[in-house]
Order: sequence, then structure tokens, then C-alpha cells
Amino acid sequence: MSQVIRSPKMYDVCVIGSGAGGGTAAKILTEGGLSVALLEAGPPVYPEKDFKMLMWPYELPHRGIGVGGHAAENFGEFLAPNGAWQIEGEPYTSAPGSNFQWFRSRIVGGRTNHWGRIALRFAPIDFQSATRDGLGDDWPITYDDLSPYYDKVESYIGVFGTHENVSSAPDGMFLPPPKPRCTDLIVKKACDKIGVICIPSRLAILTKSVNGRLPCHYCGQCGRGCVTASNFSSSQVMIPPAMKTGKLTMITGAMAREVILGKDGKAEGVSYIDKATRTERRISARAVVLAASACESARLLLNSKSAQFPNGLANSSGAVGKYLTDSVGSDGWGIIPQLEKMPPHNHDGVGGMHMYIPWWKFDRKNDFPRGYHIEFGGGRDMPGVGEFNDLLHEEEGYGATLKKRARQTYGTGIGMAGRGEMIPNPDTYCEIDREVVDKWGIPVLRFHFKWSEYEIRQAKDMQETFRAIIEAAGGVYKTKTPISGESPFGIAAGGKIIHEVGSARMGADPKSSVLNGFCQAHDVKNIFVMDGAPLVTNPDKNPTLTIMALAWRASEYLLDEARKGNL
Ligand SMILES: Cc1cc2nc3c(=O)[nH]c(=O)nc-3n(C[C@H](O)[C@H](O)[C@H](O)COP(=O)(O)OP(=O)(O)OC[C@H]3O[C@@H](n4cnc5c(N)ncnc54)[C@H](O)[C@@H]3O)c2cc1C
Ligand code: SF4
Repeated sequence: MSQVIRSPKMYDVCVIGSGAGGGTAAKILTEGGLSVALLEAGPPVYPEKDFKMLMWPYELPHRGIGVGGHAAENFGEFLAPNGAWQIEGEPYTSAPGSNFQWFRSRIVGGRTNHWGRIALRFAPIDFQSATRDGLGDDWPITYDDLSPYYDKVESYIGVFGTHENVSSAPDGMFLPPPKPRCTDLIVKKACDKIGVICIPSRLAILTKSVNGRLPCHYCGQCGRGCVTASNFSSSQVMIPPAMKTGKLTMITGAMAREVILGKDGKAEGVSYIDKATRTERRISARAVVLAASACESARLLLNSKSAQFPNGLANSSGAVGKYLTDSVGSDGWGIIPQLEKMPPHNHDGVGGMHMYIPWWKFDRKNDFPRGYHIEFGGGRDMPGVGEFNDLLHEEEGYGATLKKRARQTYGTGIGMAGRGEMIPNPDTYCEIDREVVDKWGIPVLRFHFKWSEYEIRQAKDMQETFRAIIEAAGGVYKTKTPISGESPFGIAAGGKIIHEVGSARMGADPKSSVLNGFCQAHDVKNIFVMDGAPLVTNPDKNPTLTIMALAWRASEYLLDEARKGNL
């Protein structure tokens, strides 16, 4: 039998994962005076060394696309480090007939090193949509419960935007937005023509200094990570203040295996693999916060079996792993010939969209439930490998004529991405694969995934809207999508939009939910889940701002309960 090395210290809280949820928990709990051990499966991040800011394509082998173009599928070698669809030795599986893709990031800060920084509040109706249309379930909390925490998160991390009074996209505590780019103005004008709402976007990027962090200097490369911490990542914005308290013990290279249940029915710690020595270790703590990302936290609970919880810890409801959703995604693009005549101009800005289209048909009867928003972009960014593939397919010839054509068409494309709400369905969930383990011997997840007719109709509507906008702008819509098969109307595979949530949802009824409205397990009072897993619905708004607001609120509750001796 291998020897388990136990930490001599008893921590107040053990937090698993340092991404959006775990970073927020670590900050609030340590600032509240609790001692926290933070287990993080990845290594530390060193922005100066790890982030490829202000590098030219030719400074990287294969100009950032990787040997054989392989890095392209992980968004290229420029992307902030340690994020991938497949991690060597740490597989996941999909059940026959299902295709689920899982982007994981093993590094301090998790996927907040990579995210697009789109920071949107859920709307009041998103918490009670089942009451309106009878699909899925309502949340046990309302927008009013969460709104003060949206305020706190936005004010602390810095989000730009404008007050617009659109009911599907509530306003927040905004910094001033950057100016629209040329392509934004073209899309806005087209949207005005056809009655679509188009407003400045809301991104977690500083346009003014906040808490000593410098404002953005408009290098346009947020996806690479920001050396000046002008955009939000948990590693640069949540972890440093937690460290400053002296109450945080960060343990990197620590792959949590299981939450340990004590004889009193409460969690007493976490067992983890120290990746450097491949030894099993144990942290003792009075409370445990799972924030390893929605599916990884479900995996941890399902792998934590005991006589009391033979189907997984805190899983008397059987809801762990169920109610999994991702955003509905369908993309398209078109060209705007009038842009061929544009003189070269300054296209600088933040590394993301300056304007977007919130869900605008909320007051109509649509042939699918709920809604979607549209992210768009275009213009003259740094050209990358493969930039002219479409042109090469369309144009005859070579040499000077082809180059001239490439110069003419460069920067005339506008891309659009619809991001919409999926309704949870019984064919979409994750469970433990009975046969496959990872390189640490930990059983892996097996995914089941199915889109329903609701989501497919939404993707169709996205494609029709993209075309309508591009044509209203005087352009030519180029995307062609099949109407059936694996990807009708271009609907992306499950997980591809990287908004997977819901796998340990909160609810008023312990028979059908895992957590109460404070992200606390119904079954075990000193276990909390603070990542995407508690979300009851997955509205068109990207989930990370809500993950942080929920984690902030749950952490304040945990602090209170700890003070009262209730945990
Ligand atoms: C390219 C990209 C673009 C995105 N764009 C947006 C966007 O614009 N807006 C938006 O809202 N969202 C976006 N997202 C999604 C966003 O990143 C996630 O919603 C968010 O990071 C989830 O936070 P989390 O705390 O649940 O998990 P994560 O941020 O994934 O953090 C989980 C952490 O837990 C660690 N961990 C995992 N397993 C273990 C274990 N067993 N033991 C110890 N540690 C473990 C991981 O290493 C990681 O550090 C994007 C994601 C990507 C990759
Ligand atoms: S665009 Fe701004 S926030 Fe983004 S990486 Fe550049 S300086 Fe940082």
C-alpha cells in the first residue's frame, strides 16, 4: 500500500482550482481572515516569460501555428500557455454517438489566462425563465440576489461598457468603452437598417487605471495574456491580493483526486497527487471549495465515494454530472467590397470586439426558446498563417496579380459568431468512465451530448441573421452550412464554445439539485462548489462574470457561517 503524506496543518479551507471561481474564493476567504490551502493542478504562471505579448509571428517557429499546423486547433502558439483540447495522459471519453470537446487549462489562473474577456451579466429573466416557458428549472436565487455581487466583481476587475437599458443585457458598473472601429460602424449601420440592436461591448479590460493596474495600451493581443495586467486573469488580479494577506498557501502541481469524508459526515480534507514526486498527499481543512471547472468538479465529487455516498459525494440527488450544457454556437463571415477602397488606417484597440449585438428579439415570438447574442469582428489585424486560404480557393493565377488581389481583399472580411442558450436535456451529461483512468490513476469523465431541435433552430436563425446583416451592409455572405448531418446550420460540437456549466446545479429542492443558493452542498454543509457547475441555466451571456459573482457571494456566506461555527 502506498503511503499517504498528510499535511500537519489544519487549514480553514481547501480550495481546488485557481481559475475564475477558485481565484475569487481565495481572495475573499483570505481577506476575510481564513487560512486557505489552494491546490492547483498546473504550474505557476510568469507573465514576463510565459505571455507572448508584442512578438512578431516570425519570432515563433511556424509563425505561431505549430509543427504541421497542430497548434492551430488550440488557438495557436501565441495563446496564453497551458490550455488545450487534449492533455497528454489526461484523457476524457465520449459515449458512442456523442461528440464532446473539453478545453482545459492546467496553470495558475486556469482558463482566465485565455478567455475572451467578454463579461456579461445574466438578465433577471434568466433566473426565472422556466416560469415563463416551462423549460428546465428556475434558479433558487434571483437577479436581485446576485446584482450586488456583479457590482462588486465589475468594480474590482474592471469592465468597460455603456448604459443601454436593454432588458436582455443588464447594465453594470462600467469603465468607458473604446471607440468603435471602422468595421463596427459598418455593422452598426447595417443593424440599424434592419432593426437589430448593436451596442458597445462589455469586456474585462481596463480603459482606465483600476487599483494600480495600468490601462490598456491597445496592442490588440489579449489572447496572448497581458504583461501589464490590463485585462482580467485570476492569476494576475485575484491571486496576488490573496497572497498579500499571508493567509494563502498555494500548492501548484497538485492534482486533486478525492474529497475525504470524515466519520461525522463532513469533509475533512482533500487527497491529491503531487505531480513532481508522483506521491499521494492529503490536506486537512475545515471546509472544501471545489472550483476545478464545472466538469472537473463533477468528476471529483463522482470519484469521492464512501459508504454514505456510494454514487459520489453530495450526490444523494443523482444530479452530479447531469444538466450539463454548453452555449449554442454557429459562426459565419462575409466580405464588404466597399472596404477594398479603404486606405490603410489605424485599427488598434483592445484584443477583442469593440461592439456586439445583444439578444434583441426578446419581445417577439420566435420558433425556438430563449435567445442568443452575436460577437463580431473584422478589419486589419496582424495577418496569420492561412489568412488567404479562402482567396486562394476562389482566385485563379499566381504572382503579382494574385498578390494584388490579396492586398485588395485583406481586411474586407467580417466574421460573426452567435452564442445562444441551450436547454438542459436528459441525453447530455457526464459520468465516470468505468474503464479509463488518467496517468495518475484517477478515473476519467465520459461525456454524453445531444443538441435538441431547439438549439438547431437557433443556429438556423443565427445563420439567417448573419446573412441579413452582411447584405444590409452591402456585402456578400460567404458561409454555407448544411441543413442536416452532424452540424446542421453550422452548430458547433458540444463543449466547443467552452461555456460548459450546470454539472452540480443549485436548486431549492435537494432531491433534484446538488447545492443550495449559496453554492453549498445540500448533503454536506462544509462542501461548496464555486465554478460553472452550480449554474441552473446557461443563457446567451458568456458565463464567467456570473461564476465570479456567485463565488464572491458564496465566499462571503462561507465566511459568515465559519464565524458562526456552522460549518
Ligand atoms: C479561449 C477561451 C475563450 C473564452 N472566452 C470567454 C469569454 O469571452 N467570456 C466568458 O465568460 N468565458 C469565456 N471562456 C470561458 C472561461 O474561461 C471559463 O468560463 C472560466 O475560466 C471558468 O472558470 P472556472 O473557475 O470554472 O475554471 P477554470 O478557469 O478552467 O479553472 C480551473 C482551474 O482548476 C485547475 N484544476 C482542474 N482540475 C484540477 C484538479 N483535479 N486538482 C487541482 N486543480 C485542478 C485547473 O488547472 C485550472 O487552473 C473562454 C475560455 C477559453 C478557453
Ligand atoms: S489589448 Fe490591452 S489589455 Fe489586451 S493585451 Fe494589449 S494592452 Fe493588454
